[in-house]
Amino acid sequence: MHKKLFIPGPIEVSQDVLEKMATPMIGHRTKDMSALQQSISEKLQKVMMTNNTIVLSTSSGSGLMEGAVRSFTKTRAAVFSIGAFGKRWHKMCTSNGIAADLFESELGQPTTPEMIEAALSTGKYDLITITQNETSTGIHNPMDKLAEVYKKYPDVIVCVDAVSSMAGDYIPVDELGIDVCITSTQKCLGLPPGMAIASVSEKAIKKAETVENRGLYFDYLELVKFVKEKPYQYPSTPSESHMFALDYQLDKILAEGVENRYKKHCKLAKIAQDWARENCALYSNPENLSVTVTCVTNTTGIPTSDLIKAMGEKGYLMSNGYGPLKDKTFRIAHMGDLTEEELNTYLSDLKDTIAELQAKA
Ligand SMILES: *Cc1c(COP(=O)(O)O)cnc(C)c1O
Repeated sequence: MHKKLFIPGPIEVSQDVLEKMATPMIGHRTKDMSALQQSISEKLQKVMMTNNTIVLSTSSGSGLMEGAVRSFTKTRAAVFSIGAFGKRWHKMCTSNGIAADLFESELGQPTTPEMIEAALSTGKYDLITITQNETSTGIHNPMDKLAEVYKKYPDVIVCVDAVSSMAGDYIPVDELGIDVCITSTQKCLGLPPGMAIASVSEKAIKKAETVENRGLYFDYLELVKFVKEKPYQYPSTPSESHMFALDYQLDKILAEGVENRYKKHCKLAKIAQDWARENCALYSNPENLSVTVTCVTNTTGIPTSDLIKAMGEKGYLMSNGYGPLKDKTFRIAHMGDLTEEELNTYLSDLKDTIAELQAKA
């Protein structure tokens, strides 16, 4: 039996999108392939609200995150972390020999404008990374407030992890002055895992030209060169299956409307948050709650692993907490093409399951 996914990626993919993955392959150096990649790029520019160059990578999002710090850091990176994924970005720096400092917020709390000001005013950093939406704690950062600070330092390259929020949350890339904004296919975009996407500013491209040892597969200059000069191709052989499905799914997202999709995610988030307040408790700072994933403190008295097992028997894959929060919390993903009705059914089944287990305990 297929368990319906309520984990924060991969998420349920609709049948019509899955069918697009089965499109017959074409030559990856053909005009048709360039046309496909151009079509995807132009649609992504609309979704990401940017005029910057779009690069694709046949990898998960982590590939382009690692590539970003390698391609654009010359002196030192300041990594602002609000949980597991920020820490991972720091590890990507140090394991590639890139000088980096980690600025961590308490779990469940955002990065603050003061933290960014304190780091950038030292003049030590030429790149910063920010997690727009932290999937482990279910919060999103106040990007407009952070942007007010980093925009005062125009030489700094701003890299943003929007893996679990692009096409769900409201992220106007150009307005926010984001140089490199990264996402993956398997979260709010509603596709299978296996492709990563980034927007890259001209400022970042110029910067990369001065950076040595950018690697090869995830070298942004190489990715950008193939988009600009070939044009619209990929340096090696991309996952064509993802590209067929992505082009199709982007049409659906644009028909829905980026703004409407954001509003839908807000509505789903409110349903999940209200459920959490009523039946358990919210883990994170209530002022910064994510619109794509909710982290719930497990106050039920039933171990999270038992809840997951019982929900599994009802046909769902429920998500535990992440890392240190594995048992203390559980998470409800509400991203992609999920409907209000599906979420309500899930939450009502979860409520019943908790009551059943509590009655047995
Ligand atoms: C899922 C996730 C990642 C990792 O992305 P992959 O596509 O699995 O490599 C990074 N950051 C955040 C915030 C995520 O939710």
